[in-house]
Amino acid sequence: MTNISYCSTRGHNEQVDAAIAIARGLAPDGGLYVPLTFPEFAHSDFAGCETIADTAFALVRPFVEGSVLTEDLRAICNEAFNFPIPLVPLIDADASRLSMLELFHGPTAAFKDVGARFLAACMERIEGESNQPLKILVATSGDTGGAVAAAFHGRRRVEVDVFYPAGQVSARQEQQLTCWGDNVRAFRVSGRFDDCQRLVKEVFQDNDLNERHRFSSANSINLGRLLPQMVYYAHTAMTAWNATGEAPDFIIPTGNLGNALACVWARRAGLPIGEIVLATNANRTIPDYLDDGAWRPRDSISTLASAMDVGNPSNMERLRGLYPDLDEIRDQVSAHAVTDAQIAQQIKKDFKRFGQIWCPHTATAMFVYDQLPATRLTQRYWIAVATAHPAKFDTIVEPLIGQSVPVPTALERLLHLPSQAHDVAAQLAALRPYYT
Ligand SMILES: *Cc1c(COP(=O)(O)O)cnc(C)c1O
Repeated sequence: MTNISYCSTRGHNEQVDAAIAIARGLAPDGGLYVPLTFPEFAHSDFAGCETIADTAFALVRPFVEGSVLTEDLRAICNEAFNFPIPLVPLIDADASRLSMLELFHGPTAAFKDVGARFLAACMERIEGESNQPLKILVATSGDTGGAVAAAFHGRRRVEVDVFYPAGQVSARQEQQLTCWGDNVRAFRVSGRFDDCQRLVKEVFQDNDLNERHRFSSANSINLGRLLPQMVYYAHTAMTAWNATGEAPDFIIPTGNLGNALACVWARRAGLPIGEIVLATNANRTIPDYLDDGAWRPRDSISTLASAMDVGNPSNMERLRGLYPDLDEIRDQVSAHAVTDAQIAQQIKKDFKRFGQIWCPHTATAMFVYDQLPATRLTQRYWIAVATAHPAKFDTIVEPLIGQSVPVPTALERLLHLPSQAHDVAAQLAALRPYYT
């Protein structure tokens, strides 16, 4: 396979390799990096892949070939994919089959651990022996920041600043943003997630600050987060294909579209993946766009599935770059919005039905599954993506099911560490003293 180059969604003039795209985060023109071409995998390319780290190595290799990451890729994959990502059967009746893809067994109990760990492993290597530390800025609606902080904490030559909206993340999420210290700082911003995103953009664009510091991002816009997210779709799809000869359909809880876009990319690279269905919360920008073709980004609204509270999903720019035609996009994905009342009702219902406890994000996927017409349920193999452990959202989930949610060991440990955050207004001026 030939080496893959990356260009900005806003212009194809400059082509860079994967390591440069990952180091930069955003392209200089403000666009997002996308592959100029995709590899064409045959199913036999994954023969002999037993662990998910094996699949990671086989899948990601052509995407980074020719860059400084090639040599260490095996080690990077082993570091990033060192926790289980099981596919757990839930329904197996004659007419319908559903499994849960559990992405929440990493250090901070949400799927963003996967991308963050891969990115951190890449960044440390890309940085080599440079003497000025790279400052990684992360705007988070809850889970991103914790995953990135955990993944980078203690790594050399990189520092992390996390920005999160005051009062809009759960107490346990906040603890996972603020418990690190060392090379990780937490900023509690008076505003919403979109304000945090805007602040980070303003820092990136400020000449004065950029003369004195080197900044980069680790948001879901970073290529180094998307590449590893393709891996669990590839691994799951190959496992299902080898067992049944079928290409499974996925239902994916969606906010900024990073997780689902990785699934689209995996299918584009030849993996046996059927339909891709997006479940959003009441932030309806994507479902509305697919309905009437008008792209109307808006302020986000707060919902129970707070890690999906995104009114202007950045990765749509990548999807529209790949499929410029609305009808092509409609062939790639469908999308359904789920209200808070429906989320709450689904959590209760499935606790009764299956004895299973969902986080509010996972519940959106289960609601969408239950709404599928019977013809789409039968004869297809569905996989719902479980993006976080319910123990992260105990204050929402426990009153609904009337009992407490057991806390995974890794999470339990973090909850007992001391925490610290800097309170700042949602203005660039408020940040300057922290970048002297
Ligand atoms: C971030 C997040 C999502 C949304 O993923 P996107 O890549 O932003 O679409 C869903 N669920 C959980 C638990 C998350 O943390």
